[in-house]
Amino acid sequence: MNKYQVVTTISYPKPGANGKTGNWRIFKPILDKQKCVKCLRCWIFCPETAIKRNKDDTIDIDYDYCKGCGICAKECTVKAITMEREGKQQ
Ligand code: SF4
Ligand code: SF4
Repeated sequence: MNKYQVVTTISYPKPGANGKTGNWRIFKPILDKQKCVKCLRCWIFCPETAIKRNKDDTIDIDYDYCKGCGICAKECTVKAITMEREGKQQ
């Protein structure tokens, strides 16, 4: 019987030529940890790998590299992530 080894690669964001890519974000994802059911869809779909998966499957958003595309909010089925205009949070 053949045995297959599954190999995955996870990349992590790094500063670009103009610094950290979160600098030019217009909309910011806001996470409501009370609503999060740890499905990890946002972690899978974030094109910038700006969502960090913790050991207990909770997530955190790395605002240094989040570009504010809104995909995580779109993919979250329980609406635990909402997009707000930058500066509105203070
Ligand atoms: S807004 Fe886009 S870049 Fe930012 S965490 Fe969500 S999916 Fe990733
Ligand atoms: S998609 Fe929503 S529920 Fe799933 S881990 Fe992300 S924030 Fe939590």
